[in-house]
Order: sequence, then C-alpha cells, then structure tokens
Amino acid sequence: MILRFLKSIGFIILIIFLTALTQIGGVVLLLCVPLFFYIKKKIAKPSLRRLLYIASFLLIYLSITFFIIPPIAKSFGRVPLAINSKTIKPLNIMTCILNRHYVRPKLKSNITNVSVKFNQKFPNTTISYLDANFPFLNGFSLLPHLSHNDGKKVDITFFYKDKSGKEINNNAPSFMGYGVYEEPKNNEYNMPENCKKKGYWQYSILEKFVPQWNKNKMIFDKNRTKHLIKLFTQENTTSKIFIEPHLKKRMNLNSNKIRFHGCRAVRHDDHIHLQIK
Ligand SMILES: [Zn+2]
Repeated sequence: MILRFLKSIGFIILIIFLTALTQIGGVVLLLCVPLFFYIKKKIAKPSLRRLLYIASFLLIYLSITFFIIPPIAKSFGRVPLAINSKTIKPLNIMTCILNRHYVRPKLKSNITNVSVKFNQKFPNTTISYLDANFPFLNGFSLLPHLSHNDGKKVDITFFYKDKSGKEINNNAPSFMGYGVYEEPKNNEYNMPENCKKKGYWQYSILEKFVPQWNKNKMIFDKNRTKHLIKLFTQENTTSKIFIEPHLKKRMNLNSNKIRFHGCRAVRHDDHIHLQIK
C-alpha cells in the first residue's frame, strides 16, 4: 500500500520535472501509460521491464519532438531555430532535444539576417544559441529563465579563440553555455561584486555548479563578439540586449538597446540575451 503510494508520488514528481524541463515531456509520459501497462502484463523480468519503459518513452518522446511538435508549434506562432545550418546552430544539441529552441518567426528572421551579414565579414562562422523558449503558450517560462516565456527571447554564446589565437566555432568554455564568466578586469566596473554586496546571492551562482576546466583554454573573442552584438542592435526588431556593463564598455558599444538586466537576474558575462519587440 505504502509502496504504491510512494510510486504514485514519484510518478507525479517525474511528470512535473519533465514538464518544467521540456514542456511536453510530462504529457508524453502520460500518453505512454497504456503502453507501460501492456509491457507490465507481457514482461515478467523487472530489469527488462524497466529498460523497455525507458526505451519506449525515449522513442515516443523523440518522435513527437522532431516530427509532430514543429508543425503544431508553427500553427501557434512559434518555429524552431535551425538545428544544423552552417551559420546557426545550438551550442549543445540537448537544447533542441529538450524543446528549448522555439521562437517567434520574427526572432528567427532577426537571427538569420544577422548570421548572413556576420558571415560577410567572418566567413564560415556559426552563431551558437542557448536557451530560447518552449514551443507553446505565452506565459509558460522556460526555467530558470523567467522572461523566456513568449517566443521573443533567445540567449546567444560569445565567440572565443584558442590560446594560439585561432578562432573557435560553435564551442564555449561551458558545455551548456552558461556559468563560465568573462570577468571584469581590475580596472573595469565590477557589477557582480556590486550585486553581491547588495545581497543578491544568486547573481554568480552558476559558477559553483558548472565545471571551470576550460576557462583558461578559451579566450574571449572581443572582435567577433562586438561585431555580432552590433549587428543585433542594427536589426529593427531587436528591442533589448543584455550583457554585463564591463563588457559593454570593453567592447566600446554604445547602443541604447544594450541594457543592464538588474541584480535580480544572473550574470551576463557568459552569454548575450537578445529580445525582440
Ligand atoms: Zn536570456
């Protein structure tokens, strides 16, 4: 009796977790329930049964994610960003597997325009994106980014060079794109320190969880990153760009579209936040 109760609680927690992570994962799990009952009836060995539960869920989840969700999302006004184009890619394919790469068509054209212009100056360069939005529902936040809830926001990685000065493409010091910071130099304004002093303990929290072993292997590419941000500011549909103030100053950028996001958010010296009107 208690075991059954605990199993039901565990199942509900799993549904909530999958929904927060992928938006559709909880619903897909519920859709799989009849199949799980069928497997339970047919397969006696518990380890094999568990394996089949997981394999069948993954197969159904991936088929729905890549073949069914894109056309439905399109009819609700959101489209997936390119998965494998030469000029736009996710930094980590998990972003797409988890359905976190959906935007309004207007934002997709914004990035596409920028990628075309960017490649005129820096050929064969890929713009790498991070978390965007889920496929459905305005107001449904893509956690932990509360504002990524309407198809109008996307995070983009900075560009980097290796130690010999060679330009790196579609790679960043953090495997997930967040949490390895391009910190303020001694003579630069230190907003993270300022936010910490004001009591915003969460501002630099990601650094504690994300491995830092590539931090000194990759060098922030000021030149390409500056050009990229400049092109974004020139797009009519761009409303705001968030980066840390010390990087805005270091790159000598002065568009009033580039703003400070406030101490309540997290640091933006590991990525660019782009949002449209
Ligand atoms: Zn963002």
